[in-house]
Amino acid sequence: MVDCYKPTSLKEALDILAKESVTPYAGGTDLMIKPDENATYLFLDKVAEMKNIVEDKEYIRIGAACTYTDIIENKLIPAVLKEAVSQIAAPAIRNIGTVGGNICNGSPKADSALIFFATDSKLRLANNRGERVIPISDFYLGRKNTAIEKDELLVEILMNKNNLNNYYYKKVGERNALAISRVSFVGIINIVDDKVFNCRTAFGAVSDVVISRPDIDAMLIGKTVKEAKALKDKYLAAYEKEIVPIRGRVSAKYRKTVCMNLLHDFLESNGI
Ligand SMILES: Cc1cc2nc3c(=O)[nH]c(=O)nc-3n(C[C@H](O)[C@H](O)[C@H](O)COP(=O)(O)OP(=O)(O)OC[C@H]3O[C@@H](n4cnc5c(N)ncnc54)[C@H](O)[C@@H]3O)c2cc1C
Repeated sequence: MVDCYKPTSLKEALDILAKESVTPYAGGTDLMIKPDENATYLFLDKVAEMKNIVEDKEYIRIGAACTYTDIIENKLIPAVLKEAVSQIAAPAIRNIGTVGGNICNGSPKADSALIFFATDSKLRLANNRGERVIPISDFYLGRKNTAIEKDELLVEILMNKNNLNNYYYKKVGERNALAISRVSFVGIINIVDDKVFNCRTAFGAVSDVVISRPDIDAMLIGKTVKEAKALKDKYLAAYEKEIVPIRGRVSAKYRKTVCMNLLHDFLESNGI
């Protein structure tokens, strides 16, 4: 009986996944919390096509089996993703934990997923019959519930690469280092010639899925700073209504207060 598979190409991995009942295993840092003695693991760490970081005109394409250390050390990766990833766990976990595992685990606390929401990134999923590319917001269906099919792998993340320089990122945990997010927030905004030309935010660890509302952020786009300031109360009120935190280790009230404080601070630090 085979107890694990170690494919070295995507085709080989997808063919095994189509035929066998196997569990994809990237770094194992989430899976090993609840090891399943009966599982047959499909190791992804040698699948060459899932280990690349390259760029094209629109995207930085990040292989799902890239570790956090691969990301931190790669010159193509935007600072906003590097900053979030650098605060995940400790070097030992960052050396083996992958972005693909972080996303596929389906947790709203996933620190890399937060950045992929705020950058409207897309995910390339494949099985041995073909592939599909979907927005990350369509991938998450609920807590620990994703749109991936049993015979699919997440192959790569297509991260939008433009206009990411001016960002605000905060991870609020129990302590400064080695903490799982209690609330995480990222805001990305660009103001050129006194006009807001893009604005995106995302809140992690608050609800069952990362909260990301391009429709609310759009209120500020195309506005001068003065107009954006005039709209600020309306913008904050819209988020006040939409952020409905779940109770966890900390109270829903605490999470809501932190979210609204971070949103205020993000706007204020950009003159709005
Ligand atoms: C001590 C400790 C500290 C941590 N701190 C943080 C933290 O600060 N922030 C944070 O976000 N996370 C944290 N984590 C959680 C974890 O390290 C991350 O979620 C990590 O990115 C998971 O990646 P992995 O490669 O280890 O996933 P794995 O454990 O290998 O897999 C996780 C899930 O995804 C599936 N999977 C993996 N890759 C694929 C793929 N390509 N296609 C389809 N399915 C796939 C697996 O089948 C499994 O269901 C921590 C974990 C530990 C143990």
